[in-house]
Amino acid sequence: MTTYSFPKIDLHNHLDGGFRPETLYELAERYGIPVEVPTVEEYRELTRHRANCGSVNEYLKMFDLPTAVMRTEEALERMTFELGEDLYHEGVAYAEIRFAPQQHTQAGLTQADAIEAVIAGAKRAMDTYPIKLGIIACMMSYGSEQINMKENLETAQTAKRYLGKGLVGVDLAGAEGIVPLENFAPLFETARELGLPFTCHAGDSPGPETVETAVELFGAHRIGHGHHVYFDPELVRKCAAKGITFEICPTSNIQCQTEPTYAKHPAKNMLDMGLNVTINTDNQFLAGVTLDSEYDHCINEMGFTYEDLIRMNLNSINAAFCDETIKAPIRSELLRLLGQ
Ligand SMILES: [Zn+2]
Repeated sequence: MTTYSFPKIDLHNHLDGGFRPETLYELAERYGIPVEVPTVEEYRELTRHRANCGSVNEYLKMFDLPTAVMRTEEALERMTFELGEDLYHEGVAYAEIRFAPQQHTQAGLTQADAIEAVIAGAKRAMDTYPIKLGIIACMMSYGSEQINMKENLETAQTAKRYLGKGLVGVDLAGAEGIVPLENFAPLFETARELGLPFTCHAGDSPGPETVETAVELFGAHRIGHGHHVYFDPELVRKCAAKGITFEICPTSNIQCQTEPTYAKHPAKNMLDMGLNVTINTDNQFLAGVTLDSEYDHCINEMGFTYEDLIRMNLNSINAAFCDETIKAPIRSELLRLLGQ
């Protein structure tokens, strides 16, 4: 295990994949929500199994319990605070925590209530520890864009109200490849009209064409995952010229079998081809990772150097949705470490 003594940034970190299991069990019991296995220890084991079993359906099952529990302001506030606290203890300087407000409304919360609770949790973490956090509200793809177009537009419109007040941008997450990504264009049109910074999950399960859609049609400057861009050298050149940032989450890609192994992951080649590659966790608890453990894979199996890691954190802070007062000190420390 290497010690990484530079400011660490996580741009792609899902709240409903990064909770503490003890808290999840405590709240499930209090809310009377049934659990599959009786103890936290067995739940950890079940999660490890599901994360690594190679079945997407099993993988998606992991989100059922956290989504069921995170439906009160108390749960959302506390679990966001705790994720912020954990990130601080892991030495993270700045993180963008994302969640889908529409997935937390089944017990009566509005999307605005959910966003406010998450912002409150992030604020409590920032008041308690010297860490900076920004919240990203995810719009969701469940299949056809028609199923939840109304809820997705509400996410964008609600996000606008909280932009600059704890919320930093929006995203499109969920199922990829069931309908063409371009069907979701109205959501990004709305985001652009509202002046919302956005990222978009693309090029993870499907091929590079979804990265092209996100970049060319939606105008995305950041792509969630996007590693399949590597299969289209011309698109790689275009993305490099436009300075598109790729939020790479190595372990998530291996677990979801969208890359075969760490050694065969194209992230290092992407960086060497001039793309703004960044390294992130995706789902800290569910995937069983931290930024440090992802960096260990980067160094030991993926061909990155220690200096690459510093450069990728520079990419992260440059692409972060937060304002310059947060970026400037982190950027200058990273540049100092690079001797620049
Ligand atoms: Zn993600």
